[in-house]
Amino acid sequence: MQGITRGLDLRLTHLTRFADIPQTIDLNNISRIALDLPLRRLFDYRIPEGAPAPLPGSRVRVPFGRRSLIGVVIENTGESSVPEAKLRPIAAVVDAVPVLDAPLLALVRWASDYYHHPIGEVIASSLPKALRAGAGAVALQMLWQVTRSGGEALADGRLARSPAQRQVLEFLARHDPVRQDALAQHLPRWRPAATALLKQGWVQCETVAAPALSNPAATTAPRACGSAPTLTPEQLEAVTRIGATLREFSTYVLHGLTGSGKTEVYLQVIQQVLAAGGRALVLVPEIGLTPQLVRRFEERFDVPLAVLHSALTDTERLSAWRGAASGAARIVVGTRSAVFAPVPQLGIIIVDEEHDASLKQHEGGFHYSARDLALVRAQRAQVPVILGSATPSLETLHNVITGRYQRLSLPRRAGQAQPPRLAVVDLRAHAVTAGIATPVVQAIERHLAAHGQVLIFLNRRGYAPTLLCTACGWVAPCTDCDARLTVHQRSGRLRCHHCGADAPLPKQCPQCGFEVRPVGQGTERVEERLRELFPHAPLVRVDRDVVRGQGDMDAALDSINSGAARILVGTQMITKGHDFQNMTLVVVLNADQGLFSTDFRAAERLAQTIVQVAGRAGRGSRPGEVLIQTAYPEHPLLQVLINEGYDGFARAALAEREASAWPPFSRLAVVRASATTAPAALEFLTEARRLAGAPRAVKLLGPVPAAMARRAGRFHSQLLLESPERNALHRLLDDWLEQVGELPGAHRVRWALDVDPIDLF
Ligand code: ADP
Ligand code: ZN
Repeated sequence: MQGITRGLDLRLTHLTRFADIPQTIDLNNISRIALDLPLRRLFDYRIPEGAPAPLPGSRVRVPFGRRSLIGVVIENTGESSVPEAKLRPIAAVVDAVPVLDAPLLALVRWASDYYHHPIGEVIASSLPKALRAGAGAVALQMLWQVTRSGGEALADGRLARSPAQRQVLEFLARHDPVRQDALAQHLPRWRPAATALLKQGWVQCETVAAPALSNPAATTAPRACGSAPTLTPEQLEAVTRIGATLREFSTYVLHGLTGSGKTEVYLQVIQQVLAAGGRALVLVPEIGLTPQLVRRFEERFDVPLAVLHSALTDTERLSAWRGAASGAARIVVGTRSAVFAPVPQLGIIIVDEEHDASLKQHEGGFHYSARDLALVRAQRAQVPVILGSATPSLETLHNVITGRYQRLSLPRRAGQAQPPRLAVVDLRAHAVTAGIATPVVQAIERHLAAHGQVLIFLNRRGYAPTLLCTACGWVAPCTDCDARLTVHQRSGRLRCHHCGADAPLPKQCPQCGFEVRPVGQGTERVEERLRELFPHAPLVRVDRDVVRGQGDMDAALDSINSGAARILVGTQMITKGHDFQNMTLVVVLNADQGLFSTDFRAAERLAQTIVQVAGRAGRGSRPGEVLIQTAYPEHPLLQVLINEGYDGFARAALAEREASAWPPFSRLAVVRASATTAPAALEFLTEARRLAGAPRAVKLLGPVPAAMARRAGRFHSQLLLESPERNALHRLLDDWLEQVGELPGAHRVRWALDVDPIDLF
């Protein structure tokens, strides 16, 4: 009991102490507070008389209607549009030290403006859930100690009648001071005895700040532990150039294939940042890639790390956040939301795989690009940013061309004399079984015979994308989506890859009773076919159906790297970050989905995928071979990619984008809406468009039903806004969104704005 009261005392002490700090004396008596509500405004509350003004960025508890909410103070002011008598007082100040320091507060305000999203929700998505619920920003622990009179009582043997109390007292005397969790661990029934001792005044309990990370190295100076290799000339140039601008904002694009030594450059730049007393923030797109990177950091540096990704429990996330906020962590590594992680004395931001779509938040209401926010953050902090990629996005390359970013290229690793040879296989000109053309079968045979390994890439899991009745033409549909159900042969199910619907695999056509047949291919079918063709070549498949967690992934990668498996079949999951030494043949089974998509980014994605998988071929001393199956071998983008590589492709693709005024030559925003009836979402967006009138320099396109209009039982539509001027677009959004939110249809649909969308569907 007393321990808990003391915990409270400590907070009060903090408050009085911070009242003594001169700059917190504030004549303003109103706080403008962001609450986690879908409302585009701040809420004014009175600072109780005599109480110090809460610092901007700190959490407060306030009454809201009949509820009590936790909000974050944005600023303090002397005036409010709310009449004085109606202003309610702040109930309690939760933080003595703001959870959002000034740079982070500036970042969330910028994000709220730019993405036109309510600031309360922006802040909510930037903080761990536990902090939103009021958990302390600083970890506290309770320390138990023997008092002087307790010591005397022990010496006098006054505790003869209570062995339990004596045991506790002796334990405390021996280990003084003792953390409560250690006490509880050693003496499971400690509590009644300790409470009695506390009443007697023989022991005391104090609440103190706990070390923020369990890693004990927290306070030691950075020391390189693992040995660093001698840099290649290109790496050295990159490290030197970045190292020369550590105290200013500049953006570097580190362009090099997986295995070309980008991470080594990150490590050596971070080494310089640490040595100068700074901290590093590293963003990665996938949780799957974090363990490898974290291991590299741990091997190299003897400093505490905080790791933030979406697979953490709330408690783990809170503790990582605390480690970052306290400054204990010298390196913070995380997926996209880590762009909001507190990093005192930020010295550099690194965005690995900057082109990756998962750096963009596209779920929920608040859509943001962690890469773009990283640039804003770095600019505010006047520190450099490194954008690393084997296939930089066209936006990024455009910024290189216009001179805003500096490119540092890493050639392929020494020992890999030649880049892999890319060639197309014309699907119309050859016999094809289970999606594999004869020349590809022959190539696989050749590479296996020469002791190489083979990678087959197909971005479609399951056995076949369609189940067809050969008599009446019935196709198994999803009842909730405009989509077909995918056949999963081994598990005997039909599944929708859009809504997750799941049904048993029928043996006969439910319409006419005739035989049904799977049509087309997914990875499961390709695996089956390859096992028939190459029964002696051990095969692993990597897709979401067979690889469920990091353990499965590690096992699959091990079997490839050890050489136990000879053929690897997989989806997008295998294209990222992994480095295979003996892969000599890579096959892209179907390039055509990317060539003829309605999405203006599809070709870019396809090229990135091809280059990334091709990067897996021909490590070591053997040259690699890459075969791309397509029914359109003359397609210009495919041709330019094959003949001129990714840079040539990027030039051609940028020219196309410029001609059709797509980003980066224009700015886009899209309003997406969905509803349970087909017309509701379209009608809402039609109303929204009418509200916008004919704005200057902004084109409104649509609304139109989404390419797949019905998904999971809801009907989706979208309205696209396009402008050559960023400011014109944002000026329109400023007023317009407010009015859109007030449309009568607004609460009948779900709608969200996406600024700089990365896909349009
Ligand atoms: P990337 O991040 O581009 O995939 P890495 O930095 O991980 O590349 O480098 C790939 C491999 O090459 C790693 O095993 C790394 O330790 C090694 N490596 C990187 N740079 C050098 C170097 N200068 N000398 C020797 N080995 C290096
Ligand atoms: Zn579905």
